[in-house]
Amino acid sequence: MIQIKRFPFNDFQVNTYVVYDETNECVIFDPGMYYENERNEFNQFISENGLKPVLLVNTHAHIDHIIANDFISKKYQIKLAAHKESEGFLKHAKEYGINFGIQLDEIKPIDTFISEEDTIKFGQSELQILYTPGHADGSLCFYAKNEGFVITGDVLFFQSIGRTDLPTGNYDLLQESIWEKLFTLPEKTTVYPGHGPETTIGYEKLHNPFVAIGKDLL
Ligand SMILES: [Zn+2]
Ligand SMILES: [Zn+2]
Repeated sequence: MIQIKRFPFNDFQVNTYVVYDETNECVIFDPGMYYENERNEFNQFISENGLKPVLLVNTHAHIDHIIANDFISKKYQIKLAAHKESEGFLKHAKEYGINFGIQLDEIKPIDTFISEEDTIKFGQSELQILYTPGHADGSLCFYAKNEGFVITGDVLFFQSIGRTDLPTGNYDLLQESIWEKLFTLPEKTTVYPGHGPETTIGYEKLHNPFVAIGKDLL
């Protein structure tokens, strides 16, 4: 049985997720811990629960989601997995960081390119990968079929969707990703977004004002 822990980190309040099962192996998504106290809090959670990180994953490579890629991959000696299209963002991450007052010393390159054909494996568990561009090139969501949850990065939020005014953003493509990849999941699927509280696919279908508009366009 997979368990999931959410940490809202840094000034962007990015949700960093730790996903683990009964073997204690875990995967870390979008490491946003920037401040010393955030890093300590995270490391303490890992050690207190006896977790063994085996992989680091980025849902996409916007600056707020990749802040601690280098820190986490070094600390736990784990590889970074992300979609190949995220490379462009990483190449410019230092400049983006400066614009937002974030100092990144080193940019960790992607070790393993992942796409829809792959799965994330840890312990006795598995997550399916969904390719969901539109908010940013290379955006991926991660679906735990048996447990019924999906990690959506900045594609779908509680009553909102990802912005499309940043480089590589594409509104129509984002709507397509949401309708074809996420809204085809069972209604009771829990959504763990990149910012803000959790929700469900069924709730968002009914109440998300941004996707109701999108449905008419498709
Ligand atoms: Zn983003
Ligand atoms: Zn974000």
